[in-house]
Amino acid sequence: MGKFLRIECECGERYLVFSNSTTKVVCSKCGKVLVEPTGGRAKINGRILEVL
Ligand SMILES: [Zn+2]
Repeated sequence: MGKFLRIECECGERYLVFSNSTTKVVCSKCGKVLVEPTGGRAKINGRILEVL
């Protein structure tokens, strides 16, 4: 089971993402790839602020 994570990009933008996301999440402000799907637990490139 995945969890929702509140993450912060290095540019300061914050996003709510799913830990087992199957879609790539790109920061809308700076274009950094924040979440990369791997088939299981997604690779999170941002700073995790909170696990919900
Ligand atoms: Zn960013």
